[in-house]
Amino acid sequence: MSAYDVAIVGLGPTGATLANLCGQHGLRTVVFERSTSPYSQPRACHLDAEVARVFQQCGFEAELQPLLTVSAGMEYVDAHGRRLFTFEGFQREPLLGWSEDYVFLQPQLETMLRRGLSALRQVDVRLAWEAPPLASLLEEASFVVACDGGASRVRDEIGAGFIDLGYDEHWLVVDLMLHRQPVPPLPTVIHQVCDPDRLTTFVPSHGAHRRWEFQLRGDEQPDPWQLLAPWGVTKSHGDLVRAVPYRFHALVADRWRGGPDGRVLLAGDAAHMMPPFMGQGMCSGVRDAANLAWKLAEVVRGASPDELLDTYEAERRPHAEAVIELSIEAGRTLARLAADPTDLPTPATADPNRWSRVPGLQLGGEFPVGHQLPQPDHLDSRLPLGWVWVAADGSFTAPDGHRVVVEPRATYGRRAVLVRPDRYIAAVAS
Ligand SMILES: Cc1cc2nc3c(=O)[nH]c(=O)nc-3n(C[C@H](O)[C@H](O)[C@H](O)COP(=O)(O)OP(=O)(O)OC[C@H]3O[C@@H](n4cnc5c(N)ncnc54)[C@H](O)[C@@H]3O)c2cc1C
Repeated sequence: MSAYDVAIVGLGPTGATLANLCGQHGLRTVVFERSTSPYSQPRACHLDAEVARVFQQCGFEAELQPLLTVSAGMEYVDAHGRRLFTFEGFQREPLLGWSEDYVFLQPQLETMLRRGLSALRQVDVRLAWEAPPLASLLEEASFVVACDGGASRVRDEIGAGFIDLGYDEHWLVVDLMLHRQPVPPLPTVIHQVCDPDRLTTFVPSHGAHRRWEFQLRGDEQPDPWQLLAPWGVTKSHGDLVRAVPYRFHALVADRWRGGPDGRVLLAGDAAHMMPPFMGQGMCSGVRDAANLAWKLAEVVRGASPDELLDTYEAERRPHAEAVIELSIEAGRTLARLAADPTDLPTPATADPNRWSRVPGLQLGGEFPVGHQLPQPDHLDSRLPLGWVWVAADGSFTAPDGHRVVVEPRATYGRRAVLVRPDRYIAAVAS
């Protein structure tokens, strides 16, 4: 018998979320992370309701609140800041128990996730520890999950490659921490600036953090302060945290499961990478972790056959690819509107909630199968970790021995819905 049920390579947001969930499920888990503390520079600064709910499931509801600011929305504007198109006006009620969009600071969030692990006895975190070769990991653990980022070594070790989905641009990412005074006249909503001279994204992030992303031409190395000057921002307004060129690309691993007997799985950036226009890279990794953790737990316990783990890629990959397509489209919309400000996207393709609200799991059956369970009034805190029926009234009897929780506001008008451990609806009672 292996010393561990699961070995996780990498303690970024994906690995840390998975480790928390594995610990909750009682899996004997070991995590290898080569650094000693979370990557200190801001990267992700947007997350959505479904992701906040996963962190709630990890036990961070109270700790998370002060780390988040509700996002005021996103507009496409012309070079003069005049609105061309906005995502506002789409339905945004807090269906899942959280607002649809938040801004936050990735280092703060990762610190929270790591703190949670120290309370989980079954999770052995090895910091400043380069993960051993895959063959050794497979001797130590029944399953290995590669959460080792875009340059994943484990992905190479199982012979998986990246499929290029067709986006490759260089942008300069500029992060500023504002001083208290003087306050520059910056927008309060995310701006996608369709300026034919330079496409730009501006994010009014959490607290004092402000983010710009400037499209680069060739190998130019512009002075960030010169780029900020048209925004009315000077050195008197804040400290430049960094100005780093990034390659924005769109990649998905050609398989997410491999190694001997399929004991190796890929998650997070190791499995997919996308341009940041929809703020969904980290969110997708957290969704991977939520989808995978309970399946690993069921297979390790012998409650489900090993084939359950095949459903991880079957469910997550089409969703990740759809989110990548949406992110590419959001980037291309900038260029299109810069060329022709009247070439507006149609609402059907532009709805940013399409993927976070209804992630399109094809579990079969009638609506709302495959959708997330709504969460009125902190419902999740009344649900067990595993499978549960949520019923419209107390007369419902579970046909399968699972617990029944009564909450008529969460059943989409049905008599009862069977909810998976990751809070997706698996079946509807007739
Ligand atoms: C400019 C920018 C803006 C972004 N904005 C957003 C956003 O708004 N919203 C969003 O959701 N996402 C956003 N993202 C994407 C997000 O930052 C990433 O998707 C996310 O960090 C990926 O998390 P991960 O845990 O999968 O990988 P990583 O964060 O890369 O973590 C991998 C970890 O594995 C460790 N590791 C690797 N190899 C080994 C090894 N052999 N042994 C031990 N440890 C190892 C590394 O040290 C690292 O800690 C943005 C990214 C960028 C660059």
